[in-house]
Amino acid sequence: MRALITGGAGFIGSHLAEHLLARGDRVAVLDDLSTGAMANIEPFKPNPKFTYAIDTIFNVPLLAEMVDNADVVYHLAAAVGVRLIVENPTRTIETNIGGTELVLKAASKKLKPILVASTSEVYGKSTKVPFREDDDLVFGATNKSRWSYAASKAVDEFLALAYAKEKKLPVVITRLFNTVGPRQTGRYGMVIPRFVEQGLSGGPITVYGDGEQTRCFGWVGDVVKGMADLLACEKAEGEVFNLGSTEEITINQLAAKVAAKTGGTAIVEHIPYEKAYEEGFEDMKRRVPSIDKVGRVTGWKPTVGVDEILDRVIASYRSQTTRPPRPRR
Ligand code: UDP
Repeated sequence: MRALITGGAGFIGSHLAEHLLARGDRVAVLDDLSTGAMANIEPFKPNPKFTYAIDTIFNVPLLAEMVDNADVVYHLAAAVGVRLIVENPTRTIETNIGGTELVLKAASKKLKPILVASTSEVYGKSTKVPFREDDDLVFGATNKSRWSYAASKAVDEFLALAYAKEKKLPVVITRLFNTVGPRQTGRYGMVIPRFVEQGLSGGPITVYGDGEQTRCFGWVGDVVKGMADLLACEKAEGEVFNLGSTEEITINQLAAKVAAKTGGTAIVEHIPYEKAYEEGFEDMKRRVPSIDKVGRVTGWKPTVGVDEILDRVIASYRSQTTRPPRPRR
C-alpha cells in the first residue's frame, strides 16, 4: 500500500507516517512546514519506503503527481491550533477550504480513497454532550475568529461528502478530538505541551478562564491507528467518525496533575480568556465524543488514559532536555 499524507511532518501526520511505515506501507509526505517540522520526519528518512516533498498543497502539479503515485490519501494539511487561528484567520480559512478543495479534486481524478481529517471544533459550542456525528453544529458570531476554524472545517466536510455523493469518491471523515502525545508543540496554543513546559520550568501553569471547562485527551498513537483502520474499512466510506478519548477532565484537574507530575513546585495561575486570546473569546464548556460509531464499524477504542499520556509526554520532554547535544558536522 502506498499512502500520501498531506501535513505529514506535523504532529499527528508524523505519528500516522510512523504507524503506516511500521505496518509495511510506503509513505510519501507533502508538507510546507508551516506548523510541521523536519525533526518530526527525520527518523523516517533512512527508511527506503519513505519519501517526502517540502511544498504546499497549492502546488497543483506536484500534488497531482503525488496523488497519482499513491493508492490512498490522508489529508491532514491544515491551519491548526486555537492561538494560530485567532491570530491568522485569513490563513486558516484559505488553507482549510482552498487546500482541501485541491486535494479532493486531485484524488477524485483517479478515485483514490481519501481520509479527510476534520476536528471536534465543528461541534462548536453545542452543549449536547456527548457529541454524536449527526448532531447539530453550533457556531458563534463571525466576528469571533475562533469560529472560522470550525466553519472552514465544516465546509471541508460538506465538500468531501459532496465528492463522495456526486463523484463516487471513496471518502472518510474523521473528527479528531484533543489529540496529544510527544512532538506536539505548545506554540499554537495546545494545552498539554504548554502545561508540561511550564511545569518543567518551574511554573506558573497558566489556566485560561475558570478552568472548569472539560476536554478528553486522546493518545496520538490510538488516534492514528483509528484513522488507518477507518480508511481500510469499506463500511466507513462516505461517513463521518469521531475519534478521541471519552475520559473527561477539567483543565484545573489537568493543571494539578501536570504540576504534581513535574515536581510539585509550579503554581497554577488563572488568566482571563480575553487576555489569553482576544476580546469576546468563546470557549466550549464541555467537549466529549461519542465513539460508538467508530467502535461499531471497526472495533476501535482508545487504550491510553490521561495519566499515562501525561507520564509519556513528560518523559519525552525530559529525554529531549537531557539528551547530549548533537555533534556539529
Ligand atoms: N488552555 C489553558 N491554558 C493554555 C492553553 C489552553 O487553560 O495554556 C485551555 C483552553 O482555553 C481550552 C483547553 O485548555 O479550554 C484546551 O485548549 P487547546 O488549545 O489545547 O484545545 P481546544 O480544546 O481549545 O481546541
